[in-house]
Order: sequence, then structure tokens, then C-alpha cells
Amino acid sequence: IGNFWNPIINIGTFYNSLITGTAYLERIFETLDEKPDVIDKTDAYVLPNIKGEVTFKNVYFRYNSEREVLKGIDFTVQPGESIALVGPTGAGKSTIISLLSRFYNINEGEAKIDGHNIADVTLQSLRAQMGVMLQDTFIFSGTIMDNIRYGRLDATDEEIIEASKSVKAHDFIAPLKDGYYTEVKERGSTLSAGQRQLISFARALLANPKILILDEATSSIDTNTEIALQIGLNKLLQGRTSFIIAHRLSTIKNANRIFYIDQGIIQEQGNHEQLLELKGLYYTLYHSQFTFLKAN
Ligand code: ATP
Repeated sequence: IGNFWNPIINIGTFYNSLITGTAYLERIFETLDEKPDVIDKTDAYVLPNIKGEVTFKNVYFRYNSEREVLKGIDFTVQPGESIALVGPTGAGKSTIISLLSRFYNINEGEAKIDGHNIADVTLQSLRAQMGVMLQDTFIFSGTIMDNIRYGRLDATDEEIIEASKSVKAHDFIAPLKDGYYTEVKERGSTLSAGQRQLISFARALLANPKILILDEATSSIDTNTEIALQIGLNKLLQGRTSFIIAHRLSTIKNANRIFYIDQGIIQEQGNHEQLLELKGLYYTLYHSQFTFLKAN
């Protein structure tokens, strides 16, 4: 299992698919070429069960160089609120979610969860309460059932099917010749990008974290899968705080709040209608990238 993660790790892609609990993360860290210098403080304490309030207070961050990547990020997100992060490439969206899961230490300012500074709690207790889903869902060789169970290893078959129904993954799994016992390959080539993401939703529902981080797949997705993803995601988000690097318009529109990030700053925030009214950066993005969708 030492090499288990190697195929899915690229430089700059430090975690993948849904990951909760430290065992998985530790395995990933073992494969990292550059290990971020993040360890528990000697007096770190266990983060109690959280509700999911997330606060960033004047957060500054740079990776290695002098260049500030985040330049004073400030926000409070209420438990259960969904946040879509949008903005140009290199704006700092992924960096914000990397800091929240403490893959790097913040240089200045602080991030808190339910009032606990994330730098003061154990990494294990922090990450155990977060679900992370990256763009390219990790599929390993085995059955679809096994792949979904990965979200919570002691889940029963019934719980797995129940979760899959809830997030609309069941609709594509059930018609397969071997259903949940269909064998899939590590690269997941037998599954479309959308289907892989539906599997990651079922995993996430089983894991049941209070905070969910999603980097939405950008690949083109057929209309039926797109609808399933939309319904599945809405189900998954219920009762959780979520940060979504959003690429699909439906996700952005459904978010409670959109943060428009550029140059390491939240330049605009509000819901879809509010941001359109502003006629600022989000308005421009929307009209340059999304208006053609309205014709469909
Ligand atoms: P995208 O939409 O392309 O994913 P983003 O908004 O998520 O972009 P980030 O990935 O947060 O942007 O990157 C912000 C800046 O930090 C970029 O200039 C990027 O080159 C830099 N950066 C990101 N990751 C690292 C890293 N591991 N080491 C050094 N610099 C990095």
C-alpha cells in the first residue's frame, strides 16, 4: 500500500478525491516531493466536534518566495453555509482551501473553526472533520461498492446503496451489468468524469464531515449526469459548511455566497443576483463565460 497513492499524485496536486481522516492524508504526505512544514504544536489539543463556523482574519500567505499569494483574506462563514470561490487562474482560490485544511501554515492573521485557531489543534482532529474532493476523483481497482466504502470503511452495503441513492449515483450504477459489484480500474477509465464525481459524493455522504471542500470537475459532462450532479451536490451540502471552487454555473448560482477572488483578495462577495447588480468583476466573468449557456 506504500505506493497506493503514487499514481494520483502530481507535483502541485497534494490530495485527491474525498479524503477524511489522517491515515489517508499521512499516506499522501509520504508521497509528496516537497513536504509542507506542518506539524502539531507540542501543546496541540483535539478539536471537539464542530458545528462548522469558519473564520479567516486578515490572512496573508506566501509559498516560498517574497510574493504574497493571499493579501488579507477576511470572512466569516456560518455553519451550513455554502461558499463558491470564483475568479481567474492563480487568484488564490486553491490556496485558501489548502490553508483551511492546514496543508501550509498561515504567515500572518489566523483561521478559526468554531472559534478554535486551526494552528492550535491536532492535524488529525482537524482533518477528520473535513471532507476534501478534488477535481479528479481517485478510483482504485476494485468494485464500485469498495470505491464508495472508502468514505467510511465500516459502512454496510445497505448504507452505501442508501448514500448512492441520495446523491443520485445509484441511477448510473444500478443499470450496470454487475451493479455495485462492477469492477473498475485504477484510472477509472470505464467511468466518465461526472460518474467519478458522483462516486466521490457518495463517499462524502458516508464520511459525513461538517466541512466540505470541493474542487469541481471542469471536464465536459453530459446533460443527464450534469443534472444528477446538481441534485446530488445539493443533497450533500445540506447541514454542512462548504467551500467549492466552482466551475458549473448551477453550483455558483445555488451557493449562499460567492467570493470573487483576484490577486489574493476577496474583491466581491454576495449571491449571484447581488453580484450581477454590482456590475463589477463577477458581472464581467458571468457575461464572458456563462451567458452562452442561457441559450441551452
Ligand atoms: P486556478 O483557478 O488556476 O486553480 P487558483 O485561484 O486556485 O488558480 P492558486 O492555486 O491558489 O490559484 O495559486 C495562487 C498563486 O500561488 C499562483 O500564482 C500560483 O502559481 C501560486 N502557487 C500555488 N501553489 C503553489 C505552490 N505549491 N508553490 C508555490 N506557488 C504556488
